[in-house]
Amino acid sequence: MRAASWGARATGKRLGFVPTMGALHQGHLSLVRAARDSCEVVAASIFVNPTQFGPTEDLATYPRSFEQDCELLEREGVEFVFAPSVEEMYPSGAVTWVIVEGLSQKLDGKSRPGHFRGVTTVVSKLFHILEPDAAFFGQKDAAQVAIIRRMVRDLNLPVEVVVCPIVREPDGLAMSSRNAYLSGEQRKQALVLHRSLIAVQKLIDNGDTSSTKLTAAAKDIFATEPSVRLDYFEIVNPDTLDAIQDIRSGALIAVAAYVGNTRLIDNLLLNPRIK
Ligand code: AMP
Repeated sequence: MRAASWGARATGKRLGFVPTMGALHQGHLSLVRAARDSCEVVAASIFVNPTQFGPTEDLATYPRSFEQDCELLEREGVEFVFAPSVEEMYPSGAVTWVIVEGLSQKLDGKSRPGHFRGVTTVVSKLFHILEPDAAFFGQKDAAQVAIIRRMVRDLNLPVEVVVCPIVREPDGLAMSSRNAYLSGEQRKQALVLHRSLIAVQKLIDNGDTSSTKLTAAAKDIFATEPSVRLDYFEIVNPDTLDAIQDIRSGALIAVAAYVGNTRLIDNLLLNPRIK
């Protein structure tokens, strides 16, 4: 992989990188297309990173479709697919971690201890291996975006972080590899995440700006779907992930919930109001 990316960059070409855990869907492909649009060479990685899964999480059952993923990436004109083994990425005795303190304990980090430590460690390893000019991430994982941006800034990593919008199914469900776990009934129940965000957006359009009021409205929507267990519904500063009381200076409205055993996330990013 190093030889390939050095080769590309030695000829002065801009290298774009799309890190994924595979089981690719249109959300992933939107990142690939954004990379394709602005970079002469595109590399994608497929690596189900064990260090970002908790001991009771779905590492063993995480959907894997390597052959199909490669076909999709080839069709998008991706030059390189990097799919290392776990042993290559984590030789035995590896004890070095990259931790973005504070931010990593917020939102998903609260309910998934160690998750973001795994993410930042593997992403920095991938950045070191590929040395991309730009790396493409989805707004779907909003906390991840804030944490990666902070890591890149704090560690002076010479990579441009590009964030692409959330890609949804026609009925509004945010695309996710984990949607494959849902039964027909759960698939319908899962729409409550998006429904809660739409309801909040409507209140905001009507002039509401108080986080307390917006959160209460979202929780009322969740109450209509009692089989879905809300993990968090939070209104935070998109960079610090700290709770904010009012959305007028911009906000990340983020939600996570369990549909059966499947944990799903979604969010809405609001720009600051221009007075
Ligand atoms: P994953 O394979 O889940 O680790 O995701 C790899 C990348 O794809 C991450 O940057 C995700 O944020 C992004 N991604 C996943 N789902 C979506 C989606 N529905 N829309 C946009 N980006 C997504």
